[in-house]
Amino acid sequence: MVMVRAAVADDGTANPATASAVAEHTSAAEDLAADGRWEDAYHHLRAAVRILHGRPGAADELDRLRREHAEAREQSRRDSLTSTYNRRYLDERLVALLDDPACRGTVGVCVALVDVDHFKQVNDTYGHRFGDRVLQRIVGELGSGLPDGAFCARYGGEEFALVMPGCDLTAAVRTCEAARTRIDHHPWPELDEHLRVTVSIGVAHSTAPRTDVERLVGEADSLLYAAKNSGRNAVAFRDERAGHVRLAGPAGRRRAIAQPMKTG
Ligand code: GH3
Ligand code: MG
Ligand code: MG
Repeated sequence: MVMVRAAVADDGTANPATASAVAEHTSAAEDLAADGRWEDAYHHLRAAVRILHGRPGAADELDRLRREHAEAREQSRRDSLTSTYNRRYLDERLVALLDDPACRGTVGVCVALVDVDHFKQVNDTYGHRFGDRVLQRIVGELGSGLPDGAFCARYGGEEFALVMPGCDLTAAVRTCEAARTRIDHHPWPELDEHLRVTVSIGVAHSTAPRTDVERLVGEADSLLYAAKNSGRNAVAFRDERAGHVRLAGPAGRRRAIAQPMKTG
């Protein structure tokens, strides 16, 4: 958590009105940061930095505020339970990526939606706090095998998104199948001897210039539900040549899959 102290102009040259305005902003930022309202805290720190900028003797204070400012900005992008990126960051990055000509080239961007299977049962059996620890371990596994430039974000509740820019569908499916397997094989008995946790994943790919966030995430969501309907603990994707939906890995050879409608 960011520590924000009141700015005090101690060089004797600063205008007391300036010092008091800076102190007001930093103190408001401290209260907001304590409530986890990082975005609002960040705005107050920015205001303090703006007031101090260019004042004599303020360099150290400015440096400190800049560091705290950067830390508050980073915290404003993170989910408080799992420390992975939050939904706001996910939405902002997806809009920027789909706007970036490099991501609309031949390789494009892949988005996977990951949903914990039967997670309500975990909460019902072991309690909500235990469920929270399970989510933290899932995030650890999801984040550990991502390609360069990719990131994990909490989409909401027990759902997460993996965003893989510059990744073709084959590589993204391989990454997701590896994540699914790691979660399946995670040492869950460390938490309880009877615990088993799996996830279902839908992976969508886009290179089309006009693809918007809603359409890409909508396709990942419909593939996720195809994976759920196939029996869970599976990764579903759309075969780009044949156009139909398939499951990755051994499940693809063993299970039938209902074909969802194509979104968009
Ligand atoms: P399915 O396989 O169909 O996804 O079943 P499910 O039980 O995972 O799905 P459902 O939507 O019925 O339940 C999701 C549960 O996730 C219910 C909700 O309480 C729990 N959940 C959401 N966010 C959190 C959280 O932050 N912590 C904990 N412990 N549980 C959460
Ligand atoms: Mg869900
Ligand atoms: Mg679920």
